[in-house]
Amino acid sequence: MSPIRSVAVLGGGISGLSTVYYLTRALPRHVPITIYESSKRLGGYIQSTQFVLPSAHRNTGDDHVLFEHGPRTLRVSKRVSSVNIFDLIRRLNLIDELILVPKQSRAAKNRYIFYDGRINMIPYSVPSMLQFYFSQPLFRGMLLEVLREPFRQNRPKAAVETNDESIGSFMTRRFGPRITERLISAAIHGIYAGDINLLSVKSILEYLWKRETTWGSVLPIWKRRTTLETKDPYSERHKEHLKALLEDNKEFMDSLQGTSIVSFRHGMQSLVDRLQEEVLKSGNVTVRYDDPVRHLENVVDGITVTSAKGAHTYSHVFSALPSRTLAELTEPPLAELLRKIPSVSVNVVNLFFSKPRLLPVTGFGYLLPKAVPREDNPERALGVVFDSDAVSRDHGEGAIPGSFQDSVDGTKLTVMLGGHWWNEEMPVKQHDKAIALARQLISRQIGVNETPVLAQATFQENCIPQYVVGHHANLRAIHEAVLAQFNGKLILTGASFLGVSVNDCVYNARIAVEDTVARNGKGISGLEAKALYDY
Ligand SMILES: Cc1cc2nc3c(=O)[nH]c(=O)nc-3n(C[C@H](O)[C@H](O)[C@H](O)COP(=O)(O)OP(=O)(O)OC[C@H]3O[C@@H](n4cnc5c(N)ncnc54)[C@H](O)[C@@H]3O)c2cc1C
Repeated sequence: MSPIRSVAVLGGGISGLSTVYYLTRALPRHVPITIYESSKRLGGYIQSTQFVLPSAHRNTGDDHVLFEHGPRTLRVSKRVSSVNIFDLIRRLNLIDELILVPKQSRAAKNRYIFYDGRINMIPYSVPSMLQFYFSQPLFRGMLLEVLREPFRQNRPKAAVETNDESIGSFMTRRFGPRITERLISAAIHGIYAGDINLLSVKSILEYLWKRETTWGSVLPIWKRRTTLETKDPYSERHKEHLKALLEDNKEFMDSLQGTSIVSFRHGMQSLVDRLQEEVLKSGNVTVRYDDPVRHLENVVDGITVTSAKGAHTYSHVFSALPSRTLAELTEPPLAELLRKIPSVSVNVVNLFFSKPRLLPVTGFGYLLPKAVPREDNPERALGVVFDSDAVSRDHGEGAIPGSFQDSVDGTKLTVMLGGHWWNEEMPVKQHDKAIALARQLISRQIGVNETPVLAQATFQENCIPQYVVGHHANLRAIHEAVLAQFNGKLILTGASFLGVSVNDCVYNARIAVEDTVARNGKGISGLEAKALYDY
């Protein structure tokens, strides 16, 4: 008899739902699977809402606009996590729902950084690099910094001893302050909403860390013949997965060749809704909504999950909860280690203006780097997404016609406020205050002064985990502690550990399930992909 007799999955975000999806494919139908979700819906931070326009702005009775309160796009790349999510999308029959943003479209090519009082375009090709270098203040003084990189001094003693370093320190050492504070900090704001001086280069920019370890620099073209040393036991596995996924999805992946990012006509919520529908079809999945988990206890025949509505024992428990939540349910030393993964909050402000083409430029949007002084960013903004350009509107140049999320034309923006800026300041949680700040920002920076016909602010508390310096060592310690305290019956997945993007969350859930099933439910933490080796 399989030791996997019953499974609880804690948390019904994309990580939890994907875990359940892969479990239903891997386990026999008689194994019951229970999802515990503290709220009344599944999806976690993935949430899309269709708002009906006020009557004065409607052409038809149900004219609507779609707002994303969390993630809005998925990245298309050759990475296994990206190909895997398209495999999932195909299996869920969601291909016709996709909005493809071609690499050659302005939405994909035109990305901006606000600096020196204006928006500066980021180069998308070698000729554009030369053109922008001389015309945009953002790049002033950077050429020398790049040319000096291969000759910069190697890793300092402190970074060697801790075997990690902050992105800020690493990049300043390699390239100097301009590239670090103007470009790198902006990119990090766009993904992690985090502080480059706290986040780990080893965990977030692993390939750069490895390059420096192997080549002594990150750019030396002439040294690239030496392959990067890797003792990663999972790298072969990822390669095999990738090969199989590419074979299974050849036609679909070929059709995505010229695509940069994708979204869905009915929003990212489609992914959650179809996953939910699919897992419920299997007949052995139960969802316990509105039932927050309060405690986990290791018992002889499994783990007892105590939630608001009762206590039940399962042979195996997958946690897809944020690490700080799991810390509240467990005992030290595991709980202490889980608390070492902090997170930041973001206020997501969605705005819709009835007038189309209000923006001074076309593109994906702009980011605000650390180099912008406080007086130029009193709103503590991280960036602005031009949604009506980025995913919703067909703006020519090969975009798929008719791929609208909204039934009317207009200008749609999302302003992201907060993140690490609120480490030292009070976060703005209030709906109206956040909208007022967002409007103040876009009025000053891009001259949008109109009154929005729809405005929505969503305070996303502790929504993005921060992989701070020492994250990798902490993962290894969590791996040991979870095995010691739960004997391989508690498996960890979710954005707190091995990657924050939706693609990563889904792929890591798949790996956690495959490992658990392959080893018959014995001796797995879910963190093996990183915890079993150092680099
Ligand atoms: C504003 C924003 C924009 C983003 N943009 C992108 C993007 O464009 N592309 C991209 O790839 N990624 C993006 N991300 C990242 C990505 O969306 C998240 O990392 C991912 O959705 C996290 O999923 P998760 O399931 O791990 O966690 P969560 O979504 O946090 O799910 C955890 C679930 O657990 C539930 N829960 C909490 N406590 C308990 C408890 N005690 N008992 C039971 N249930 C509980 C919660 O209600 C929730 O449903 C973005 C994130 C944010 C916040």
